[in-house]
Amino acid sequence: MSVYLDYNASAPIDQRVLDEMIIAYQNKAGNADSRTHSFGEEARSVVENARKQVASLLGISSSEVFFTSGATESNNIALQGLKEYAEKTGKKHIITTSIEHKTILETAKHMAIDGYEVDFVNPNESGQVSVESVLEKLREDTLLVSVMHVNNETGAIQPVLELGDELQKRGVLFHIDATQSCGKLVEEIRSLKYDMLSFSAHKLMGPQGVGALILKRKAYKRPPVKGIMYGGQQEQGIRPGTIPVALVVGCGKACEIAEQEYKENESHSRQIKLAILSTLEESGLKYQINGNQDICISSTLNIAIDGVSSEALMISSKQYCGISNGSACTSSNYSPSYVLVAMGLDVSRIESSLRLSWGPNSELNEVIDNFRKLLDVAKLIAN
Ligand code: PMP
Repeated sequence: MSVYLDYNASAPIDQRVLDEMIIAYQNKAGNADSRTHSFGEEARSVVENARKQVASLLGISSSEVFFTSGATESNNIALQGLKEYAEKTGKKHIITTSIEHKTILETAKHMAIDGYEVDFVNPNESGQVSVESVLEKLREDTLLVSVMHVNNETGAIQPVLELGDELQKRGVLFHIDATQSCGKLVEEIRSLKYDMLSFSAHKLMGPQGVGALILKRKAYKRPPVKGIMYGGQQEQGIRPGTIPVALVVGCGKACEIAEQEYKENESHSRQIKLAILSTLEESGLKYQINGNQDICISSTLNIAIDGVSSEALMISSKQYCGISNGSACTSSNYSPSYVLVAMGLDVSRIESSLRLSWGPNSELNEVIDNFRKLLDVAKLIAN
């Protein structure tokens, strides 16, 4: 059977999360915003419990957690929700990086059509943007800096800790897309300084279709972000629409489990990475690693096998491994990974690049047995 190695696209739901969600679907019939009956109150109570679970994982107050449909929506609100403030203050300059997820890149590009100026900072060859290259773009009219915590294709950790310190000193709004780090780099996230932070539950073994936008308070004040949809006042208008109670319960439970288990998950993931790397080394194939491993998360590896097209390899080895060569959001039409292009890698290396990502319930032996078979296929098609 094929082993799943595409956790960065979506991680399988944890059985304990699913169990809690089923209970919620079966027993919490109410709308969490209904105030006239106990069904509504009960739904509200489990939603607030989930909010506390998210807050506890992130080391923040539960009043700073706003449930959304996931990181796509959170990222859109974080950027587009500042438009009213931008108009009022005349601040219309945004700084982000060229390796952000499309949810940031496309939103920023769309805002550029509306008269915003956007600077996209490039990473170096190791996959990281430097603090200086971001800071040197700052202007009087900078509205926002948005930088991801961990890149979804390479696993490279970005210097959001230093950036947060510097931007707070300068009073510039800072948004972090923590979709690939939430529940993994737990202590790091707790120590970050930011105004807004996004994540999706399904990347940490929660359900798809739910996530949160964190709006940190400074001197009791929220960042000047507004909801981008009209409707009800759910989530204080930041995200109108009936709260999906069972999804939110699942999001909270996934955060609770991650908080309890992140240390053992991290060492399990590291063990798998080391085993993959030594299997690769023993195979005799020539390969390159994309992203400096000293700065990459333990559950992601991006490799280029010399002379082996990743498209050909993925298709001819899919009975062994479910992998990808980039973000699922861009995979319907093949074009070379913009992340690897921005890192300055050459075209043939990019065309040979594969992303492997795994998680807490990946079985070491199953991963290695199947990866070995994938490498045997690579040997057959290598030119
Ligand atoms: N940001 C990053 C870094 C991601 O990896 C993803 C998912 N690939 C998203 C945002 C969007 O998440 P979702 O599709 O769950 O909204």
